[in-house]
Amino acid sequence: MYLVQAQVHPDHTYKTDRMAQEAIENKVIVITGASSGMGAATARRLAQLGAKVVLAARREDQLKQMAVEMGKNTMYVLTDVSKRADMDHLIQTAITTFGHVDVLWNNAGIMPISFFEEGKVEEWERMIDINIKGVLYGINAVLPHMLSRGQGHILTTSSMGGLNTFPSGGVYSGTKYAVRAIMETLRKEVGETIKVTTIYPGTVATELGHDITSPKVNALFGNLDALPKMDTEAIVNAVIYALSQPGNITVNDIMLRPLGKTVN
Ligand code: NDP
Repeated sequence: MYLVQAQVHPDHTYKTDRMAQEAIENKVIVITGASSGMGAATARRLAQLGAKVVLAARREDQLKQMAVEMGKNTMYVLTDVSKRADMDHLIQTAITTFGHVDVLWNNAGIMPISFFEEGKVEEWERMIDINIKGVLYGINAVLPHMLSRGQGHILTTSSMGGLNTFPSGGVYSGTKYAVRAIMETLRKEVGETIKVTTIYPGTVATELGHDITSPKVNALFGNLDALPKMDTEAIVNAVIYALSQPGNITVNDIMLRPLGKTVN
């Protein structure tokens, strides 16, 4: 489901779908969590559409290979989103290299889910550091720049787990509920000039969850591979939809899930 909120900027006009490329071409787009999954797939498509893409994640081999494949308008910055200085450095590097930042997509995230009784406190802390603090550091790094330009677009990946919870998902869902609160508040504070989009995907076929260490989770969900999943292409299309809107349209929330039986 797409929820589209129109804002009043009478000088802007609607563009057709065929003009999505025009909307994206030459935009400077910073993506965290760009080394795999939905971030990597979207980065590749945006580069094909002519965007200047800044890839951010921790695994240098993946980022380096992607940057080579994607061509001269792509760069990567090794970034741990849970470190405020890394996020500041990422945005500053993007501005120095390309002149400005049009779009920041806070997409990095981890999901080592477990039951509370298992007491995996270090995993809870890592989820909070990456899924919540990483988003806050991203907003903090880019917002003054966007406000001074009087334009910009901040997207963040929440989850269907940010709207519904499930046994073992308490902390992961908690981080994604927090993302919803952060993004909704950001929209209410700066939404007259800055576009703010939160994406709520259901299950997508990516590396997410490969870091689950809980035997109880594996016993509960059994064969996770048997669950219906979206291809990353579904998220690519959703991001392009949000980025391709005319200047007077801001897509606030995108919720999408695969057909079939789902966890939440
Ligand atoms: P992946 O595991 O494939 O991608 C996660 C990305 O986050 C990787 O690029 C990883 O890169 C990066 N990352 C993890 N920790 C950090 C960190 N500390 N600093 C910087 N980058 C980091 O999974 P997805 O593509 O599925 O995940 C993308 C987002 O989508 C996440 O926020 C996830 O919670 C959300 N989501 C995913 C769903 C799914 O079913 N797959 C459903 C709903 C939401 P690296 O390890 O190189 O740092």
